Amino acid sequence: MLPIERGLEIVMSTARAKDRPDWMPAESVSLLDSIHRVLREDVFSDADSPRFDKAIRDGFAVRFEDVVQVPAVLNVIGESRAGAGADVVVQPGQCCEIMTGAPLPEGANAVVMLENTERLSPSSVRILKAVRENEGLLRRGTEAREGEKILSAGNRIGLADIGLLAGTGKTTVMVSRKPRVAVIATGDELVEVGEVPRPGQIRNSNTYTICVQVKEAGAEPIELGIGRDNLEDLREKIGKGLEHDILLVSGGVSMGKYDLVENVFAEFGVEVLFDKIAMKPGKPTVFGHRGSTYVFGLPGNPISTMVAFHMFVRPLILLLLKAMNTAPRVLEAKLESRAKCDPERAALLPALVRFDAGQYWVKTAPWKGSSDLVGLARANALIMIPRGSGNLEAGQNAQFLFME
Ligand code: AMP
Ligand code: MG
Repeated sequence: MLPIERGLEIVMSTARAKDRPDWMPAESVSLLDSIHRVLREDVFSDADSPRFDKAIRDGFAVRFEDVVQVPAVLNVIGESRAGAGADVVVQPGQCCEIMTGAPLPEGANAVVMLENTERLSPSSVRILKAVRENEGLLRRGTEAREGEKILSAGNRIGLADIGLLAGTGKTTVMVSRKPRVAVIATGDELVEVGEVPRPGQIRNSNTYTICVQVKEAGAEPIELGIGRDNLEDLREKIGKGLEHDILLVSGGVSMGKYDLVENVFAEFGVEVLFDKIAMKPGKPTVFGHRGSTYVFGLPGNPISTMVAFHMFVRPLILLLLKAMNTAPRVLEAKLESRAKCDPERAALLPALVRFDAGQYWVKTAPWKGSSDLVGLARANALIMIPRGSGNLEAGQNAQFLFME
């Protein structure tokens, strides 16, 4: 059985191999549609930011030298508002009324906020508090210079990035095309979510969790429905699935008599590179490829499927998207309870993490094994115990991943 790290290496090196494109082509999307996509171009500021010396307070633009001694009475010679500067030069003893976002008039070098002033007449104001040079304003170009790189290819576009892109005039953005991921659930016992299971049947939940994971990773799920546990049906569904960038088949990859997925992979010429991983849950995870299609058989148990996706499929999707970071974000916490682990296999245990007194604390969540979604839904993380460690005791440090 392969350790998780080795399995992940195989997945990633297969994607990087020379004989197939190792990432998605770039495409242009509208700014609004670019949220959470992976950027494929470096973005440069189209101008100094801010574009001019700008007030960041409502108040009076002054020469700071004039208000070293306060109170000081100054002559108000004009008004600079956002969008319309004042065509004045502030001389000694003078000031200019100014609003947030308005250009600083020539001659002024600080802004006294309104709260620290007392208006005496339309043409005079008493300044009650001294200011330092450049206080209450932002000088031209202090955030970014014209031509400066403000975003790098490989970044996942977040909310602030949308604002930044808008501010620099990008109406369209180059991002990675989303990999298309075919999703097939298998099992004679499965019924659709809208149906009522008869004795021995269960609702197909994996299609939903997998499709959500696909979307969250930044790819596009293509739902191919339920494949039944017979060669004919699996051939039809898997044949269709192989037309996409990635094919995910859940269930049918264990040792049972009706676990036929690997047989059908073989019929289609899928080159299987591993079919067992030393982890619990998630042992019967299959990975291979046919041409440029990456193929996974994910164990059918709902939690095993989720974990296997997280460990192997998500990093592959991120690699294909040319994202800067592909690794799961592993954090460290202090264990509040014993975490049991068979030393033969790495363990991923549903857990509850909280943050207190400057660090994370984690305890295992009660759960009844790899089909227990009720238990997992009450947890917010997975404790990761490396192969060979065995049990971890309360007080020891443990690694975890958030799973929310
Ligand atoms: P399998 O890997 O096909 O042997 O399935 C392992 C376990 O997961 C069985 O108890 C299945 O009933 C369950 N299972 C398989 N596929 C799904 C699915 N799509 N949704 C929910 N449970 C499933
Ligand atoms: Mg099955």
